[in-house]
Amino acid sequence: MIAALFSARDGAKTRLLESNEKLGKKVYITGKGRCNLTNTADREAFLQQVSRNPRFLMSALAKFDSTNTVQLFHELGMPTKVERGGRVFPVSDKASDVTKALKKAMEDAGVQIALNTKVTSVTPEEGGFLIETEDGSFYHSAAVIIATGGCTYPATGSTGDGYRFAEKMGLRVLPQYPSLVGMNMTGLQRLQGLTLKNVRLSAKVGNKLIYREIGELLITHFGISGPLVLELSSHMPEKYEDARVVLNLKPGMQEDEIDARLIRELEANRRKELKTVMTSFFPSRLAGLFPELCGLDPEMYCGNVTREQRKEIRMKMTEFPLPVTSPRSMEEAIITRGGVDVKEISPGTMMSKKNPGLFFAGEVLDVDAHTGGFNLQIAWSTGSLAGKSAAAFIRNQ
Ligand SMILES: Cc1cc2nc3c(=O)[nH]c(=O)nc-3n(C[C@H](O)[C@H](O)[C@H](O)COP(=O)(O)OP(=O)(O)OC[C@H]3O[C@@H](n4cnc5c(N)ncnc54)[C@H](O)[C@@H]3O)c2cc1C
Repeated sequence: MIAALFSARDGAKTRLLESNEKLGKKVYITGKGRCNLTNTADREAFLQQVSRNPRFLMSALAKFDSTNTVQLFHELGMPTKVERGGRVFPVSDKASDVTKALKKAMEDAGVQIALNTKVTSVTPEEGGFLIETEDGSFYHSAAVIIATGGCTYPATGSTGDGYRFAEKMGLRVLPQYPSLVGMNMTGLQRLQGLTLKNVRLSAKVGNKLIYREIGELLITHFGISGPLVLELSSHMPEKYEDARVVLNLKPGMQEDEIDARLIRELEANRRKELKTVMTSFFPSRLAGLFPELCGLDPEMYCGNVTREQRKEIRMKMTEFPLPVTSPRSMEEAIITRGGVDVKEISPGTMMSKKNPGLFFAGEVLDVDAHTGGFNLQIAWSTGSLAGKSAAAFIRNQ
């Protein structure tokens, strides 16, 4: 939508082909229906939130960043507000207002919008491209922008067609994986529904630390989820077994402080059960189960806890292993990792280096970021740049 808008505003006769019966089906579900459309983080902080190929985005962000996004939507009559962590939302809290604003702007700029029009192939031809659609119609165009999204939440229309089009035209497309997604794991199902706040999640591959953050983790029927886990998923290796993921349940305390406190509590409560004393460390559900997770009887007397057992309790508090086996499916992931290799694309125009006139924008590219409005900003930045560049390409022909 943004690519079409900027292309038309720069004078190119523009047609948007959308397979769905309406525009912006994915936008509609973003930010739990409120659409976290961008983030106010400055350029450097923004790029730190991009987990794949941040440098590729520098040019696009320099031309159209979050300030431009907010300004654009204000111009289009959609006021925004800033919430925790610089997250920007429509004042109305309605994701549909984002699509409404873009639709109206596209119509005003003369974009011809064709709904229920699924593109089946894009083929280079003399003077441009032949675009064929499912209903048998076809279009000729001097330039094409492929902005078909990733392949997560396919029910919204992003079924990975853009990868196939790109591959057919000889571009390298990297394998796709679900990202910003929960992780499968067994062992903690009895704590299902429990949210752990202010815990530290870390992951290592070999000796390399790939992730370490403090935040919130949720235990689910399938394993683990919540903000920390979603973020970690965008840093995980292809094979989850290659990573060692651990949880520090007491990141605010040094190990010797934990030890001293454990000694104190166990000593003062020698005739009480271990699970009772654990409530001074954890929420009651976790406290009841924690001794078992350490291989101990929850009902044993504190006075009987040996030095070795105390050490085990302390270890499990600070380095609780989370043997995650795999990410949840593409159907549940917020973003796709992988896609059109950015080495194939000129970062200053979003045009394919091999195929003049062929442009890419958004999630179809191998760029992805953490949650917080960064992924949509990537779509706005690369989309506006692709739109402007495609119009310039046509003008200069
Ligand atoms: C549940 C959820 C919540 C999210 N929340 C946020 C959030 O709050 N903030 C944020 O920054 N990001 C969020 N994201 C990520 C964000 O939605 C995407 O990164 C963004 O929508 C990507 O934009 P895009 O234009 O590249 O692709 P999409 O928004 O997926 O749009 C691609 C469009 O292309 C159409 N299409 C695909 N193939 C064809 C074809 N062959 N022919 C014609 N049309 C086709 C699709 O129907 C679709 O309308 C969320 C994602 C999910 C799944």
